[in-house]
Amino acid sequence: MHSIKYARIGSCISKNKQSGVIDMEEEHVRIDWTSEKMSRDDILKFQQKRLKALLNRAWEHVPFYRRIWKEHGFSPDQVKSVEDIIKVPFITKKDIADSMVQFPPFGDYQGDFPVIRVQASTGSTGKPKPIFHTRNDWENITSLWARRLSAQGIGSKDIVQIAFAYTLFIVGFTSTEGVMKTGAMVVPTGSGAVTPSERQLQTAHDWGVTAFGCTGSYMLRLADVAKKMGFDTKRDFKVRVSFHTAEPLTEEMRTDIEKIWGCRAYNNYGSVETGAPTFECEHQDGLHISEDAYIFEIIDPVSGKPVADGEEGELVATTLFKEAAPLIRYRIGDIAAFIPGECGCGRTFRRMSSIRGRVDDMIKVKGVAVYPTDFEPSIKQSGLFGSEYLIKLWKEGQRELVKVLVDFHGEEGDLKSSCEALSADLHKALGLRCEVEVLPRDQIEKLLDTEKRTKYKRILDLRK
Ligand SMILES: [Zn+2]
Repeated sequence: MHSIKYARIGSCISKNKQSGVIDMEEEHVRIDWTSEKMSRDDILKFQQKRLKALLNRAWEHVPFYRRIWKEHGFSPDQVKSVEDIIKVPFITKKDIADSMVQFPPFGDYQGDFPVIRVQASTGSTGKPKPIFHTRNDWENITSLWARRLSAQGIGSKDIVQIAFAYTLFIVGFTSTEGVMKTGAMVVPTGSGAVTPSERQLQTAHDWGVTAFGCTGSYMLRLADVAKKMGFDTKRDFKVRVSFHTAEPLTEEMRTDIEKIWGCRAYNNYGSVETGAPTFECEHQDGLHISEDAYIFEIIDPVSGKPVADGEEGELVATTLFKEAAPLIRYRIGDIAAFIPGECGCGRTFRRMSSIRGRVDDMIKVKGVAVYPTDFEPSIKQSGLFGSEYLIKLWKEGQRELVKVLVDFHGEEGDLKSSCEALSADLHKALGLRCEVEVLPRDQIEKLLDTEKRTKYKRILDLRK
């Protein structure tokens, strides 16, 4: 089951020294059980070879890196081993944004490769950030998706519905092709914006869909709609696996999804810039990093120094295989920790925690630093509040105020005491005094734009 053979679609591509294109026969990401359980030594040797090739390729073909590295007095020959990666200057979101301004419209970080496709990240502010892909890049990312899905038990007997958005955001397309590479049949309905939830569910029911790919919050939304349509999610559907990405899947959401759908729900972390770098395996005990394709570091966001295993810090990504728009020591801005020790599954790829939040999403309120996901355990504890919530911040004079907007499932008579209990619990858990306001679920969903969004945004900050 772990040695799926994929067609070598890239074998028709010959080596092209002029444009720095990788020879696919030699360098493409191999999706098989042997590469997932390489010894630590073999992983490091492999990474060293790929890192050197990446640095040289970027120096020759990506003006962005040559420019920034020269400014820092860095050149690829300074890197002899994987540990030397710390000599490479960091790249930030601002460097990419500046590059787009200086070299419009695509920036000089794409490189001079034969490009076949552009996807873009959904910039929360400003313009979308374009990311170019060569044929090799696309093959590798979709293979990494196939690795994720086979680790999550998906294979040729499955019918997999993709309800991610088919837009400039990458995940809809790459997950679709990843499913195809596992040999399963894909049902590409797209997000609720193109296929309404009722039709998604009717299709899943009629066609016997066994796996769903969508955001975690959309999976819960589908459960609500199914109930309204008179379906019993466990009895009327055959869904046994759901896989999620694009927003943090908290343990509370996972528990709800698994309970309601009677399936196993898996978390995957990635982005348009990185592709498909991490996946949960059947043990659901942290995210394995595909270390044959990426080097992930976790640093103290202030000092830039690596943090110890188990400690939280900012993720720094290097895409070892990527030709166009490679990331080399890119500060992603997401907060996570490495998980020490080995996983029960036998894979040797090291693991990281799920994302606690983004450095940018961190709310500093009344001098306390918290992430939206920190609110969730208190909200879920009583079982009386819904899974969708919004955190509103505003100011009265110099006073900063926090309000949590939630919906309520309990008895009318318990409303006041339940809200007071939640407020007290949040104060205890976060050290923050928060008001609690109850709104109807559909109003909260409207504020969150649950049906259409591809990324989650739980903070409404009106302080500025
Ligand atoms: Zn594992």
